[in-house]
Amino acid sequence: MADCYKCVLLFGAPGTGKGTQGKLLGEKDGFVHLATGDIFRALDKESELGKKFLHYSSRGELVPDDLTVELWQDFVKGLVLGDKYVPDKDLLLLDGMPRSLKQAEMLDGLIEPLAIVHLTVGNLDEMVQRMKLRAEKEGRHDDADENVIRNRFDVYHNETAPVLGHYDKGLVTDVNAIGTIEEVFQRAEAVVMSVR
Ligand code: AMP
Repeated sequence: MADCYKCVLLFGAPGTGKGTQGKLLGEKDGFVHLATGDIFRALDKESELGKKFLHYSSRGELVPDDLTVELWQDFVKGLVLGDKYVPDKDLLLLDGMPRSLKQAEMLDGLIEPLAIVHLTVGNLDEMVQRMKLRAEKEGRHDDADENVIRNRFDVYHNETAPVLGHYDKGLVTDVNAIGTIEEVFQRAEAVVMSVR
């Protein structure tokens, strides 16, 4: 692919409010929010890919890298074709991508991160409780079970957190994710606007 997508990466352990903040930031002019989890959840559950997604996500595991990157690339191409994302003008807000070192390597040359927003929280138990509440409200099968939630944290620490080290340190800003949605939004927005 010839295009190199300028983007802001959103990082944060499960339950840090990454999706919520991504959606809010994506409402700003010139930004396009793209959550890989949403792309997966929109798949037909009876399709081959939909079944694979359920297989992995219901255990709190990552979908294999090749599948994920291929689906993601097809989705972005679709956005471009549908004029929903104009690479020369818009900035992509990537939520949940890349989520492993292999994915980061596969995306080198395809994406150009201008900033990385790293949402941080201290308390693991509080995060687990937040996720259980969300699972009940949104009917998310992957977060209903405490063991699965804890596995998602392990996967984040073992596979996703190391991705931060793949990029230039100067790109990463830690953003305190404790506070109201509005407070956290203001902190994240400041980072995002600094590269606009
Ligand atoms: P999320 O909504 O971001 O928490 O994602 C829900 C689930 O989708 C994850 O637990 C994974 O199973 C899958 N998923 C989302 N993004 C990725 C990714 N970049 N690589 C592999 N699996 C992913």
